[in-house]
Amino acid sequence: MERIRLKARAKINLGLDVLRRREDGYHEVRMIMQTVGLYDLLTITKTQAPKIHVRTNLPYLPGNENNLVYKAAKLLMDEFHLPGGLFIDLKKKIPVAAGMAGGSTDAASVLYGLNRLYGLGIRTEELMERGVRLGADVPYCLMRGTALAEGIGEKLTRLPPMPPCPVLVAKPGISVSTRFVYENLHANELRREQHPDINASIAAIREGNLREVARTMGNVLELVTAREYPVIEEIKDVMRRSGALGAMMSGSGPTVFGLFEDKGTAEEALRRLKRAGLARQVYLTYIFHGGRRNE
Ligand code: ATP
Repeated sequence: MERIRLKARAKINLGLDVLRRREDGYHEVRMIMQTVGLYDLLTITKTQAPKIHVRTNLPYLPGNENNLVYKAAKLLMDEFHLPGGLFIDLKKKIPVAAGMAGGSTDAASVLYGLNRLYGLGIRTEELMERGVRLGADVPYCLMRGTALAEGIGEKLTRLPPMPPCPVLVAKPGISVSTRFVYENLHANELRREQHPDINASIAAIREGNLREVARTMGNVLELVTAREYPVIEEIKDVMRRSGALGAMMSGSGPTVFGLFEDKGTAEEALRRLKRAGLARQVYLTYIFHGGRRNE
C-alpha cells in the first residue's frame, strides 16, 4: 500500500468536570467524550526521500515538526525504522484551538494510518499507549464513540452508545487558550453545586434517554470561559431558543454545540445562528459511532 486517506473525526464533551488540581499542576478530570461526524481529511503518501512533509490548507497552522501530525508520524517512523519518507496532506475542517480535539484526532489518525500503511500489526491498545505521549486526548481519538475519560483524560472506559441526534456546532471568532482556562478555574475551591453531575449523564446515556442527556449536560470550564467571553452564552441562547434540547461549550471552548431531536429543527437553528452573526464557523453534524476510518 502506498497511500491512505483518512477521516479524522472531532469530539464534543457531553460532560466535563474538573475534580481537583494536583500538586504537579495537572488537573484531574471526569469527562464524557463523544465523537461527531465533523472531520479533517488526511492523505498520507509514502515517498522516497527520507523526510516528513506536512501540507495544510490553513496558512496559520505549523507545517513543520510542531504539527501534531508530524510528531505522530515521527514517533512511529523512528521506533520502527521505517524506510523512506512521507507526504501528509491535511485538509482541516474541525475548528482549531476550539475544544474539539482537532490536533489530537489528526495525530490519532496518523498513528492508525501508518500502522496500516506499513502493516506494523500494532494493537489499538498499544497505539493508545504511544498516543498519550502526543496528547491526553489522543488515546480517546483512537478509541472513538462514547466514553468516560478520567485521570488527566487518558483513563478511558467505554460507555453504551449515546442516542443518535443532530448536533449543531458553532465556533465564535475568538481564540481561547486551554492553559488560561485551567489556570483561572481554581478547581480546589469550587462549591459542590458548581460541578456538573457526570453520573447523572452516564445514567441517562445508559437509559438511551436523549432528553435526559441534554438536561444533565454540564461543563465546569464554562465558569471561566463564558465569564470571559459573553458570546458563548449568546450562542447557547440562540440554540436553545431555536429548539435545542441542550446547548453547552465543548472542552475549554470556545466552541458551543447544541443537541437536537430532529434534523428540521437543527437546520432552522443553523440558519438563525448564521443570521445572528455570532459564530465564525457553524456546522450541522451528527453523533458518530464508528464505521470506517478510510474513505
Ligand atoms: P482540545 O480539544 O484537545 O483542547 P483544541 O481544539 O483546543 O484541542 P487543537 O485544534 O488541537 O486544539 O489545536 C491547538 C493548537 O495546536 C493550535 O493552536 C495549533 O497551532 C497546534 N496544532 C498543531 N498541530 C495541529 C493540527 N494538526 N491541527 C490543529 N492544531 C494543531
